[in-house]
Amino acid sequence: MSFETSGMDKILLRNVALSGYRKPTPVQRHAIPTVMAGRDLMSCAQTGSGKTAAFVLPVLHQMLLMGGPAPPPSSSGVGGISSRSRCSYPTYLILAPTRELASQIFSECRKFCYGTSIRAAVIYGGSENTREQLRAVENQVDIVVATPGRLLDFIDRGRIHLANVRFLTLDEADRMLDMGFEPQIRQIVENCDMPAAGQRQTLMFSATFPREIQRLASDFLHDYIFLAV
Ligand code: AMP
Repeated sequence: MSFETSGMDKILLRNVALSGYRKPTPVQRHAIPTVMAGRDLMSCAQTGSGKTAAFVLPVLHQMLLMGGPAPPPSSSGVGGISSRSRCSYPTYLILAPTRELASQIFSECRKFCYGTSIRAAVIYGGSENTREQLRAVENQVDIVVATPGRLLDFIDRGRIHLANVRFLTLDEADRMLDMGFEPQIRQIVENCDMPAAGQRQTLMFSATFPREIQRLASDFLHDYIFLAV
């Protein structure tokens, strides 16, 4: 597969070219068609392998196919409710262990969303920017990139609702477990298990594949493809 023959949306192909990506990396070559086909995926991939584009691009493609961002449930019916509700119902949720990784993923999302109506926000722990992050999700965003603790805080505050999550990625899942995030991750995934979202597509990326990751994969993924590159 090349980017051009992948069948990916033309806007995304343009953004890939603008990023200077000529050829897909091995993880992209295998993950992009798998995810575009709607399959769940467990991938062992290291930092630097190009894994971010491997999970962002094919989900963006599907979001564009679905007709762009889904409206938040509260916006149907009476006009203006969503703007007053000051919260977001993301379609795509990406969990990452650290603020640095979450920020990098967010930059990739923004780069690839350029020229579409899909909006992304990043939320991570650290007190100095809570207000800014709250403001970022006040008006509907379609992609939320988050560290687990801060996401739960925003869910508790009623600023993010996971009832519309159709796509979920756990990046560097082994690091999230090493950092003790398993209870938070389980709580978040339970929050995603809402009937309004219909069938969810879940992608997990991890540098290693120990027993705990295998257990998470079997708990969260449905009939998944395993990819080691
Ligand atoms: P990642 O593993 O997703 O953190 O990506 C590592 C680095 O490789 C990032 O700087 C990406 O922008 C870059 N990258 C990802 N995919 C490609 C590609 N197909 N061609 C060139 N650079 C890439």
